[in-house]
Amino acid sequence: MLSEEFKFQKPGEVRTRFAPAPTGVLHIGGARTALFNYLFAKKNEGVFILRIEDTDIERSGQEYEKDIMESLKWLGIEWDEGPDVGGDYGPYRQSERLNIYAKYLEKLLAEDKAYYCFCSEEELEAQRQYQLSIGEAPHYSGKCANLSKEEVQRLREAGKSAVIRFRVPSKKVRFNDLIRGKLEFDTSLMGDIVIAKDLTIPLYNFACVVDDFEMKISQVIRGEEHISNTPKQILLQEALNFPSPQYVHLPMILGPDRTKLSKRYEAVGISEYKKEGYLPEALVNFMAFLGWNPGGEREIYSISSLIKEFSLERVQKGGAIFNIKRLDFLNGFYIRQRSVEKLTELCLPYLIEAGFLEKI
Ligand code: GLU
Repeated sequence: MLSEEFKFQKPGEVRTRFAPAPTGVLHIGGARTALFNYLFAKKNEGVFILRIEDTDIERSGQEYEKDIMESLKWLGIEWDEGPDVGGDYGPYRQSERLNIYAKYLEKLLAEDKAYYCFCSEEELEAQRQYQLSIGEAPHYSGKCANLSKEEVQRLREAGKSAVIRFRVPSKKVRFNDLIRGKLEFDTSLMGDIVIAKDLTIPLYNFACVVDDFEMKISQVIRGEEHISNTPKQILLQEALNFPSPQYVHLPMILGPDRTKLSKRYEAVGISEYKKEGYLPEALVNFMAFLGWNPGGEREIYSISSLIKEFSLERVQKGGAIFNIKRLDFLNGFYIRQRSVEKLTELCLPYLIEAGFLEKI
């Protein structure tokens, strides 16, 4: 239930974003997140942003960015601001924003809210093993938290490799998830978290907080798997004096047996569904119901009627069941809606591929 105390921005002030890491093709889970962000923004006459979170250079690939963008466009989920279309708060690719992150990292370091940590991987691993052996949740011991300025300078000048850690205050972080209500996290056992590998290599939580602020994001709508990141992001916002956006964590998508969605469906990219003959209208209609339900009997919704009907109040907390039969039913419906001419056109690539027709 949407709690009363939340006042949404006035129409036109809503700014949502879909922020994929281009480390793989667009799957159903990501596409559903994009769709809900898009529907919420459009319903509130707001702006929908595509932000590419490609700070993990080794795992990010241009082919994935291309797949994500093409799949979204094919689905009809168009963004108002993004790497290709620009906008007032660009660039929209994190790898092009490194100077912005460096500025905020330097600020945290200067205010002693973050510090350089010189612990080696081996040291950290040994510490982890020890903590586990005495029944503690692994967390950073704080060894480098109080090094003197001179010591830090000496180690840096000696070329010792370091990461940047954020001093996590020990406290209870509370926030209202627009779907889940009040949530509380105790950070006392968290330990200081790494926010950057160095000034030019920020990690996800930090870059995300900076961008959500700089891009004036009003609601962060993302998958449930990010709930544990939210308290970290809120603490970073507090340290940087940023206001917090509102948070919305969408339910997990589960397989028909109520366990985690199997590879059979989740690992299949949107482009694969396209190849298999699913129509974008069917997928959009199907994905909208993965966690949202308008109530009533009606099952067929075009993207424009979804915009009219969509509300976060009707997004459920519990897992959303992926039922392929429903997708097939919707696809059948949309196929039958097409004219013979349009259907012929849609079938041609398949007939050519199967060798029944020659390419002209
Ligand atoms: N880059 C993150 C992901 O792909 C974004 C999470 C978020 O929306 O904050 O999961």
